[in-house]
Amino acid sequence: MVSVEEASRIILRQVSPLPGEEVALLQAAGRVLFENVRASRNVPPFANSAMDGYAVRWLDVARASATDPVTLSVLEDVPAGYVARRRVTKGNATRIMTGAPVPRGADAIVRVEYTEFIGDRVRISRVDGQGSHIRGIGEDIQKGRPILKKGKLLTSADIGLLASVGKSRVRVYRRPTVAIISTGDELLEVDDSPQPGKIVNSNSYTLSAAVQEIGAVPHLLGIVRDKRKSLASAFKRALHYDVVITSGGVSVGDYDLVKGALLDVGVRMALWRVAQRPGHPFAFGRMGSKPVFGLPGNPVSSAVSFLLYARPALLKMMGYKSFFLPVIHATLEHEIKKTKGLKEFIRCCLREDDGRSFASSTGTQSSGVLHSLSLAQGLIVGKEEETLLPKGSQVPVILLRHQGLLSGELGF
Ligand code: AMP
Ligand code: MG
Repeated sequence: MVSVEEASRIILRQVSPLPGEEVALLQAAGRVLFENVRASRNVPPFANSAMDGYAVRWLDVARASATDPVTLSVLEDVPAGYVARRRVTKGNATRIMTGAPVPRGADAIVRVEYTEFIGDRVRISRVDGQGSHIRGIGEDIQKGRPILKKGKLLTSADIGLLASVGKSRVRVYRRPTVAIISTGDELLEVDDSPQPGKIVNSNSYTLSAAVQEIGAVPHLLGIVRDKRKSLASAFKRALHYDVVITSGGVSVGDYDLVKGALLDVGVRMALWRVAQRPGHPFAFGRMGSKPVFGLPGNPVSSAVSFLLYARPALLKMMGYKSFFLPVIHATLEHEIKKTKGLKEFIRCCLREDDGRSFASSTGTQSSGVLHSLSLAQGLIVGKEEETLLPKGSQVPVILLRHQGLLSGELGF
């Protein structure tokens, strides 16, 4: 039996990032960049006006004031998207809109608020300085400069940045396809009518949703009965995918069933059983470079083992550099008893008070009670050597709802 830390190390050591693939820009959102991107053009591509106003020669207007305004002739209008036909020469100005290219000869923009348009002339009563309100060529991005590094998780701003330099296709890490198999003679499909002695296969759904949540691609291969032959043929089919995740059939009683079937199809086992609760029975192996996770059948055990082991492995395959859920420290609201020798993950609620976090158990910690995981915002981590976590003590808590740090208020 290995520790949680050791199991995590063994698994992550045996998992490598997948190769890259080229996708259309929008498909790259939320994925990890597989290439270093340099700008193939300047952004903005030309000097343009940051204001609605007049493009002028600084020398003509430098001394303009409310008491001593300067009047210039207006040559033409340049809206955004068009190029001025004429050069701005001494005594002249061009009316310009935000985003329009600065006409030749002009070296300042006077904002429209400081002007008065009279006939075909403009009276200027205030100026902001030479070069004012001109966005220079390449001010945002300079041609040839690196803009995004390989390994960057692409946000919506990154997607826009790539669009701005005209990059419509981009290389990102491939997303693993994940075969999900539930094992057990007692399992029914979600649409089946209830039958004596049978329960609905919920694990396939929990696991698929968890795979989907991080952007990997789940494939539900259904239920397989507790027969070595059926298991072996299902595993063989599953090995067409990048990752295989099974649930059930790894507890002491029937461990050999799943292990035997995995060995039958050529999977090399690297570990089974981890000193933890829930999720003590657990198998991990590899078929070539494909990781195979044999998760326990109990709904909470399989979900927690997924979070601890399969989730980081999938993130690593997708090119992430950091794979672990965030951990905070919280004060325990009540004492919790635990078993010596096992690291325990206790489903908990969290509450904030005066900048501090407080954790309390969501109730029964039976590994069959999925409801208490559904209520949980975190998992309190109880260390192996401890038998009691006292009320008021500081405990590490793995955040489960880290993506849901939303607030009901504006908050600032
Ligand atoms: P096992 O690990 O196969 O011994 O299963 C442990 C417990 O988890 C048993 O009570 C099973 O009925 C239950 N279980 C196994 N697989 C599933 C599943 N796919 N969905 C819901 N419960 C399951
Ligand atoms: Mg079973």
